[in-house]
Amino acid sequence: MSQLAGNVFIVVAPSGAGKTSLVAALLKAEPAVQLSVSYSTRPARKGEMDGQHYHFINRQAFQAMIEQGDFLEYAEVYGNYYGTSASWIRSCLAEGRDVLLEIDWQGALQVQKVFPGAITIFIMPPSIEELERRLRGRATDGEDVICRRLAVARLEIAKIAECDYIVVNDDFERACVDLISIVRASRLNSKTQYLRLTTVLAKMGIAG
Ligand code: 5GP
Repeated sequence: MSQLAGNVFIVVAPSGAGKTSLVAALLKAEPAVQLSVSYSTRPARKGEMDGQHYHFINRQAFQAMIEQGDFLEYAEVYGNYYGTSASWIRSCLAEGRDVLLEIDWQGALQVQKVFPGAITIFIMPPSIEELERRLRGRATDGEDVICRRLAVARLEIAKIAECDYIVVNDDFERACVDLISIVRASRLNSKTQYLRLTTVLAKMGIAG
């Protein structure tokens, strides 16, 4: 097992904040970051691939995974269950890889209990009006769903001070640079770098 543990990044955002596009841009710029593919009981949407967007399973299978202790965290979100594989994350971290989780607040709090060093990043819409405009622009949800998502968004935004970082997605390019900067800066923290530089330091007669 590598001595160098990877970082755990948790990206939380209200739906419509642009999280998916930002994370896709981050993964393109930083391909070494491994995206956790969650298990979900919700039906796949058009264009979604099993194993790529989610591992789509039924409630019975989800329940069995809970009982076997397979989840690092799980939560019910909008009437469906979502969970993060514990074994997948642990093996990535043991290999020194960085992992990124796109999960909700309930999940983020559970993960932080297991990995207190997990870095939480909140993607903030520029305003509630803009969020509403984006949700309506999707034209996929009915009025009741939009209202529910906006109400949840307000609750999530009320907690942003608890996050390590906040990225405001008013300008996509700038928000991308902000997100990438957070990941790069986290990798450069002295504890991680010290482990990475063990050989170099040893040659200098410095490392113990
Ligand atoms: P969607 O169904 O729109 O893909 O996701 C709905 C919500 O579930 C989003 O807020 C998303 O971040 C959250 N979510 C996705 N996967 C997980 C997971 O494994 N655990 C938790 N707690 N939330 C998740």
